[in-house]
Amino acid sequence: MAEQATDDYETLLQFLYRTPIGLMQTASNGDVEMLNPMASRLLMPLARQGNLDNLFTVMAPYVPQLQQMIRDFAPASGIVCEAVKVELGIGLPHERSPTVLALSVLKLDNARLMISLTDVTLEMRREQDQLARELSHAARIDSLTGIPNRVELIEHLQSMMDSSPAAARRGALLFLNCDRFRQINDMLGTTAGDDILRLMGERLRTALRQHALTDAEAAGTGDLVARIGSDEFVVVVDGVRAPDLAERVAQRLLKALAVPCSVGGKQIVCHFSMGIVVLDGDASGAERILQDASIAMREAKRSGGAMYALFDHAMRGRAEHRGDIEVALRRALAEDELFVVYQPVVGFRPDGVIEQAAGVEALVRWLHPVRGLVPPVEFIGIAEESGLIGALGHFVLATACQEFMRWQAELGTRAPRRLAVNLSRAQLAQPDLVESVAAVLQATGMPAGLLQLEVTESLAAQDAEVRDCLMRLQSLGIQLALDDFGTGYSSLACLHQMPVNTVKIDRSFVCHADTSMHHRVLIEATVMVAHSLGMDTVAEGIETTAQAAVVMQLGCDKGQGYLYGKPMEARELVAWALEDLGVFCRAGS
Ligand code: C2E
Ligand code: CA
Ligand code: CA
Repeated sequence: MAEQATDDYETLLQFLYRTPIGLMQTASNGDVEMLNPMASRLLMPLARQGNLDNLFTVMAPYVPQLQQMIRDFAPASGIVCEAVKVELGIGLPHERSPTVLALSVLKLDNARLMISLTDVTLEMRREQDQLARELSHAARIDSLTGIPNRVELIEHLQSMMDSSPAAARRGALLFLNCDRFRQINDMLGTTAGDDILRLMGERLRTALRQHALTDAEAAGTGDLVARIGSDEFVVVVDGVRAPDLAERVAQRLLKALAVPCSVGGKQIVCHFSMGIVVLDGDASGAERILQDASIAMREAKRSGGAMYALFDHAMRGRAEHRGDIEVALRRALAEDELFVVYQPVVGFRPDGVIEQAAGVEALVRWLHPVRGLVPPVEFIGIAEESGLIGALGHFVLATACQEFMRWQAELGTRAPRRLAVNLSRAQLAQPDLVESVAAVLQATGMPAGLLQLEVTESLAAQDAEVRDCLMRLQSLGIQLALDDFGTGYSSLACLHQMPVNTVKIDRSFVCHADTSMHHRVLIEATVMVAHSLGMDTVAEGIETTAQAAVVMQLGCDKGQGYLYGKPMEARELVAWALEDLGVFCRAGS
């Protein structure tokens, strides 16, 4: 029996001796009474001059509060602390010394403490590595869609570039931007907008996977879909060399994205504009490729959206020029380089007499300090893209309304009876457009019924939101005109869907009115349809009396063109209104 007990005791001692946990017993003042080899191994590097006599002395630099903590522990026995992480810091003598210990203290009674110590260095290192991995992952993943973000895309692209010599490189980068995302967000709210973005990311991934399965020609492993901006996605198609294959993928992706989706109880169709760069032998870096693709995307958008454009080097030059204009235009707005000119619109009376004061159209001008007069076609598009159109449009409207009211006072019955102001595509997307127009009317005293806002044909036909915006403008009492009719996509058959009061027949028809039967027939048909819908018509760009005679005879209600007056500054218009246009304007004369 006694032998058995001796054996058990021996076994227990062996166990305590070999266990990988440091164990020690101390007096309540920290004096060490017993410790196993592991405890001395763990503590020895911490002990000054190798002295392990007192636990508190050894631990003081690392856990200064230890002694106080034990003193404050009121119960006669129990766990004082458990697995407290003790950072030993750097500067320990051996590289393989532990750097983090887990310390537990058990109060056995009022006189004795039991201490356990474990080396948790590796465990902590693993935890830290895991955390770092998670953080780095989070830094590369777009939190909304769960797909790679810009950081990951750039690295992915760069490693594609680095891994193969330029000449052997195959791949294409597709840069996508949603055509009307801001309107979708404004209309349905950001939660629905987020849902759409997630769905679009998913559609791109699915379509790209299908492409990889079906197109053996491009069986690359480096395919990637990333979201790099609010409504901007980039697709890397590995293995593509020929532009036509890249275009095939582009078409497939655009088609997949344009499938109607139902969000917030509404059917939405998301069209995207896409720019494509086929990686050729050029040694461009990742950022440059992305920039080129974005330039091509802008060109696609400028051409009407819902399409792709292949990058070519001339696009970069054009983009730089546009960038310069944008900077200069910003300055122009701030420094009053813009002004407004007015082109007369005359009325055609049934008796052939010209009504001189029918109206004017306000047209913006830019007097650049170096380049001189810059025509609006060179900067309206840039103003639209850069968001400057809001300020520009407001300036034109406010200036023209002010001027118009001054003429009423100054010219009386000879003052123009209507003011036409152009509204561009991007202005109709401004959420506060109607309020801002109403505010200008209010501030200038301009009667809404005398203002006519001109929108282009493609624009008015576009969609429900645009139509809603136009209706709200009409409900203020403002007249609407369909500008440049005949140049857009919609036809006479769609005219009844347009919420407009006036149709302006484009110059390209009017200039052939006297020489081409075809154009004459088109003008006549337009006038008839417009009249049947209760709309009136204006023939634009009349330059000769022969053209004037034809459009009058075909029933146009009004005319505008160099024949009657070029766009002129406000004071010139006063002189023009006072002078008598005379007989040269009469039909057939
Ligand atoms: P638009 O609205 O069709 O304006 C008529 C344009 O035709 C004007 O060019 C005018 O000068 C020109 N024009 C008028 N009569 C004749 C003619 O007999 N012969 C010829 N060859 N041309 C004639 P402009 O002022 O260069 O404006 C070009 C376009 O720029 C405008 O076309 C309009 O779309 C846009 N725009 C001009 N001002 C503004 C503005 O304030 N806001 C917006 N959003 N767009 C504007
Ligand atoms: Ca116009
Ligand atoms: Ca026009």
